[in-house]
Amino acid sequence: MAIAYISFGSNIGNRIGHIETALRIIRTNPCVQPSMQISSYYETEPIGYTNQPKFINGAAKIGTTFSCEDLLKFLQSVECLLGRERTIRWGPRNIDLDILLYDDACISQPNLQVPHPEMHTRAFVMVPLSEIAPEITHPILGKTIRELAEEVSEVLH
Ligand code: ATP
Ligand code: CA
Ligand code: CA
Repeated sequence: MAIAYISFGSNIGNRIGHIETALRIIRTNPCVQPSMQISSYYETEPIGYTNQPKFINGAAKIGTTFSCEDLLKFLQSVECLLGRERTIRWGPRNIDLDILLYDDACISQPNLQVPHPEMHTRAFVMVPLSEIAPEITHPILGKTIRELAEEVSEVLH
C-alpha cells in the first residue's frame, strides 16, 4: 500500500459538486482505501491564463495499491468521466487532479513527474497540503511541507 497526495481544483460550474463527485469516485475504487484525508477547500485566483473564473482547490491523502503510473491513468479517467475537455493549458476546467507525492518516489517521465514539479511554487497547492501533511519531507528538496508552504505563504481563504 502506498500513500499518495493528490491536489484537486475546479473553476467551472458547480465547483464543489465536481470536486465531491471526483473524490467519491476515487474513494470507492477498490484500489483506494475508503478512508481518505481531505484538506479544507480554498478559493484561489487562476495562474497562467488569468482571464478565467476563480478556482476551488484542495488536497487529499489516499492509501492506494495503484502503481503511480496507474494512479495517473485512473485520475485521468476520473477527469474524463466528469467531462473535462483539454483545451488551453492552465485554462478553465471542471476538474483537475494532479499527483503531488507518491511515497518517496521520484519519477521523471515525459507524462509523469513526481513530486509534481511546480507544487512547491504554488500556494494553492502547498497551503492545503500542509494542513494534511505538514511533517512529510519533500523527497527532492529535503524540506518539510510546512517549511515549503511558509516559503510560498500567501493568505488563502
Ligand atoms: P500543471 O501540471 O502545471 O498543474 P495542468 O494540471 O493544467 O498543469 P494538465 O493539462 O492537467 O496540466 O496535464 C498535462 C499533463 O501533465 C498530463 O497529460 C500528464 O501526463 C502530465 N503530468 C505529469 N506529471 C503529472 C502529475 N504528477 N500529476 C498529474 N499529471 C501529470
Ligand atoms: Ca494542475
Ligand atoms: Ca493536471
